Amino acid sequence: MTIGSEDRALATAAALDASDPLARFVDRFVVDDPELIYLDGNSLGRLPRATAERLAELVRTEWGSGLVRSWEHWIDLPAEVGDRLGAALLGAAPGQVLVADSVTVNLYKLAMAALDRAVATDPARRVLVTDDDNFPTDRYVLAAVAARFGGELRIVPSDPVHGPDPERLAAAVGPDVAVVSLSHVAYRSGAMADMAAVNEMARAAGALTLWDLSHAAGSVMIDLDGTGADLAVGCTYKYLNAGPGAPAYLYVRRDLSDRLASPIPGWFAAADQFAMGPTFDPLGGVGRFAAGTPSMLGVTAVDEGVRLLAEAGIESVRAKGVALTSFLIDLVDDRLAPLGFEVATPRDATRRGAHVSLAHPEAQPICEALIGQAGVVGDFRAPDRLRLGPAPLSTRYAHVAEAIDRVVALVEAGGHLAPEASAGSDH
Ligand SMILES: *Cc1c(COP(=O)(O)O)cnc(C)c1O
Repeated sequence: MTIGSEDRALATAAALDASDPLARFVDRFVVDDPELIYLDGNSLGRLPRATAERLAELVRTEWGSGLVRSWEHWIDLPAEVGDRLGAALLGAAPGQVLVADSVTVNLYKLAMAALDRAVATDPARRVLVTDDDNFPTDRYVLAAVAARFGGELRIVPSDPVHGPDPERLAAAVGPDVAVVSLSHVAYRSGAMADMAAVNEMARAAGALTLWDLSHAAGSVMIDLDGTGADLAVGCTYKYLNAGPGAPAYLYVRRDLSDRLASPIPGWFAAADQFAMGPTFDPLGGVGRFAAGTPSMLGVTAVDEGVRLLAEAGIESVRAKGVALTSFLIDLVDDRLAPLGFEVATPRDATRRGAHVSLAHPEAQPICEALIGQAGVVGDFRAPDRLRLGPAPLSTRYAHVAEAIDRVVALVEAGGHLAPEASAGSDH
């Protein structure tokens, strides 16, 4: 598709919106400022209207009136929502997904458990493998876990646009490797790893896989069971729209869970929690990776986010994500390339998630000026990336076209060079 002008782009966007089967979902989110273009749903998803209502109801009725009696039904919610999340978005059969803690803590629990088991089985197997462009918390936690076992975190170089090179990855996974841990969709470039191929490669080497699904869940098709994944973690405040600090989730393949021990033997993971016994005896299954009391407001928000995505259907969400990012990339080529922007996300739609990274030497001041002056919220990622995440459920094609117009207007006028441009903040 070649788009000759600004008007042509707006007309194309209008046609795409008119035939968008998910268009009605945009109105299921709270929008206070219709002029604001929000392209950061991959960092903090918008607030679903249903979530605002259900949380208010929970606070007033379940907490306010029900008080401690509400634990009767609250107690099962992390596993129930985990099952719904697994079925709708992760390709996971029931009993393998639990909503709990943060990604960081879940990654620590699963990496510790996997390495502990590997070393017990074969003392020579104490290496963890990841890539140098993986999310910081992943690299930090994996390095600490490897050190705890006197092992090593082997870091494979990653292409800044296309992610870890499959051949270099395979070369790094030898008989000393216990766990291969990658992001399914890379947080900066949006590159998507081939989950099935990595699972097969790791299995052949006798290693387990531990996936971070934070940028993948709710944006791309995931089939943990079908591709033979072993372990996974992910967050819920991005495409799952569960809100700031909402609990994360973890997946443990069914036949693996009883052979793994969590490093945090909390009472929520105990086989008979209210026996309050003298020693810890873990639950069977994924429940043994619970720790302490879960946030019911948070788990409930995850439930609403998952229900919304399940109603839309992940196939449709993925199709719209591909179409939105393709439209965005076409507009960048046509209108932003002359201003020095370069697409830093795979152009092959089957190899990317639902956000697009643009490289530009002035990305940081441009991003700050877009937020501060132009009403376009994306985010900056070091060293020179402007990330634009048109979350499929809450974004119209017209938002993308209008955002590009505003970028062109800002950069052509040098708005990002004005002194006030640097006053913006970056979370
Ligand atoms: C967002 C994100 C996280 C966040 O971890 P928290 O512990 O929830 O702060 C971790 N990993 C990846 C890949 C992410 O994108």
